[in-house]
Amino acid sequence: MQSTRIIILGATGSIGTSSFEVLRNLNKKGERFRIVGLSCLSNTEELLRRAGEFGVDSLAASDPGVQRPEIRWSGEDAVLHLIEETEADIVINGIAGSPGLMPSLRALERGMDLALANKETVVMAGPIMFETARRTGASVIPVDSEHSALFHLLDGRKREQVRRLIITASGGAFRQTPLEEFPRLGVADALAHPTWDMGAKITIDSASMANKGLEVIEAHRLFDMGADEISVVIHPQSTVHSFIETVDGSLYAQLSAPDMKIPIQNALTYPELSDSPFGGLSFDELQLSFSRPEPARYPMLPLAYDTIRSEGPLPIVYNAANEIAVEAFMSGTIPFTGIAETVEATLSQEWDSEVPSTVEETMSIHRKAERRAGTHIAQRKERT
Ligand code: MG
Repeated sequence: MQSTRIIILGATGSIGTSSFEVLRNLNKKGERFRIVGLSCLSNTEELLRRAGEFGVDSLAASDPGVQRPEIRWSGEDAVLHLIEETEADIVINGIAGSPGLMPSLRALERGMDLALANKETVVMAGPIMFETARRTGASVIPVDSEHSALFHLLDGRKREQVRRLIITASGGAFRQTPLEEFPRLGVADALAHPTWDMGAKITIDSASMANKGLEVIEAHRLFDMGADEISVVIHPQSTVHSFIETVDGSLYAQLSAPDMKIPIQNALTYPELSDSPFGGLSFDELQLSFSRPEPARYPMLPLAYDTIRSEGPLPIVYNAANEIAVEAFMSGTIPFTGIAETVEATLSQEWDSEVPSTVEETMSIHRKAERRAGTHIAQRKERT
């Protein structure tokens, strides 16, 4: 049997690190999967160490400052060159944020299946992504843990049998913080995630629930469900990753330890399941509790629902403004509460009503939203 060829984008990040462990497990009894390409942002030492271990020589680094003979491509388009010039069957996209969009689309254009951990691809350009996949026959398999759960729960189920998707949220670092302390919350506080070990941006997005907002938009796009058919429930243990509710009133759930290796492995082996040592649960320790997210604590969540209801380009604006606001929060320019305030102010400006049909339009709205969010932050700073 020929091994399946894999490119891992964002190979030195959290998804990349988990992917290597998954591949070691899947290749225990022979080389089912072969890594043929790797990319990173700037951590070239780690990239080269992994490339050496797995015998990979198609390497790219997005940081234009990287100049090393072993790294074939560097700079803004490095990842696109890697995808264009490497033959592969599956691309794992673990790039953080909006820079993940173009590589996702390029992989699908080349007919490569996409194991997608980069939710921004779906939020910014879901319709374009699906159209590209349809044209080339490539598949998109979600790796985001909630969407991986939903994907497998919905697999083989008729759409008209499904009443509602219920996405769980850990509640992030500030689930129990008194609201009056919010104006004084700092970066270190936001980075203390209770259950998942992830990158900085997504951990802050978890505290604000912007991450869940993006995931609601992602679910809307991936599974073709309306705003009223998607709910979010706080579940601090992060053991149930999602539910579906069927029209007879039953709930079906997917449970496992909070470990990204399970969704990654299931995306790679789909439609099969393979043995894994990851994520087993013991009933001796199983505690499941659920509560509703309060809008006053998590204003980013209702804002995300607004972007689905108005459709048009607002999901792109939501994501771009949040990226700028989180950067400003991390550099100490705005307080934690300034994130939602910036996103709301940016969304409430004048925007076209059309959903963009090309990547160029998508990126132009993205950049306009970045500029507008930046201007809002600068004006806010002048006032204070
Ligand atoms: Mg998630």
